[in-house]
Amino acid sequence: MSNSSMSLPGGKPVPLIDLKAQFQPLKDEVFKEFESIFESMYLFLGKNVQAFEKEFAQYCDCAHGIGVGSGTDALHLALLACGVKPGDEVITTSYTFIATFEAIAYVGAIPVFVDIDPKTYLLDPSQIEAAITPKTKAIIPVHIYGQMVDMDPLMDVAKRHGLKVIEDACQAHGATCKGRKAGSIGDAGCFSFYFSKNLGGYGEGGFVTTNDAEINARIRLLRDHGSPRKYEHAEIGFNARLDELQAAILRIKLRHLSQWNQLRRQHAQRYDELLADVGVVTPFIDSRGESVYHLYVIRTPEREALRTKLTESQIGVAIHYPIGIHQQEVFLKRFEQRFSLPVTESVCREVLSLPMFPELTNEQIEYVVHCLQ
Ligand SMILES: *Cc1c(COP(=O)(O)O)cnc(C)c1O
Repeated sequence: MSNSSMSLPGGKPVPLIDLKAQFQPLKDEVFKEFESIFESMYLFLGKNVQAFEKEFAQYCDCAHGIGVGSGTDALHLALLACGVKPGDEVITTSYTFIATFEAIAYVGAIPVFVDIDPKTYLLDPSQIEAAITPKTKAIIPVHIYGQMVDMDPLMDVAKRHGLKVIEDACQAHGATCKGRKAGSIGDAGCFSFYFSKNLGGYGEGGFVTTNDAEINARIRLLRDHGSPRKYEHAEIGFNARLDELQAAILRIKLRHLSQWNQLRRQHAQRYDELLADVGVVTPFIDSRGESVYHLYVIRTPEREALRTKLTESQIGVAIHYPIGIHQQEVFLKRFEQRFSLPVTESVCREVLSLPMFPELTNEQIEYVVHCLQ
């Protein structure tokens, strides 16, 4: 590719994610569903939530699925349903969105961080065993960027030590590892429908998948004020319901999810090819699994210079994540434990997320790569 300047594709900036492009072909269907909900004014826990719970649980190869208010709620309620109590330790990764940590703190538990794999940036299952103490109660693997943690060694350690496993699949709707779906392997799987996720609503939403009937029943109770029947309350629950409007949108979008994930993989492959000679590290995907490329993240010591260059070229970029949780002010203020995680710390200094969404065009990808060199 030439070094001469290239003009913006279609004369428009390249966003990090393009929700307007996704909305256009869905518009009529979405408005029709909205109209019928507004006419019935059945806004919570109605037929859309019930249908979506079945459909998304099935999509994840799980027996049960519960719609909740957000991915954060999903993690919080899953920890409660798994019996994690104040003072218990939960092993997880520091290289994640803050909500993974917040959910642990909400139940009064103590996060214990293990370092990540230097190639995949996923929690390294081989480091779990050394982090286990008599207080350890659960493990939260995070399927970061849309690639699953290798669950076999993780489940093996969990079984040997009697630990619960809660998958944070908030970035991994539809991802697989060795033919198994994200959210279907641990005791519970947690999903977010925040607008930017692979499956996103137009407000807040989340989901818990499980094959355990007791966890299912408990989360159903907890998400709706501990209420098994109207006006009866069995325990202190939460206001953590998925609403009908979000469920209706998610049902429509779910029909496109596999194709959208496939398009993301094609775009990633195109980026990989074009970036081969650019001198940045492209994502490493374990061939035993399929990533859904929630994000396309490159690694380079020149991160700051490249970020400036792309921003000046009107390309949307972001950093996921610039600071590990173990170095965040909120963690340092609230917890006494200190962690040295050399891989996490160096990755935090060097990662850069490039535009990634199903509607991305080859022209846009070429422009991004052109601007990177
Ligand atoms: C988005 C996300 C969450 C939280 O989901 P919300 O719906 O925003 O509450 C949790 N964990 C990870 C890894 C996420 O990416």
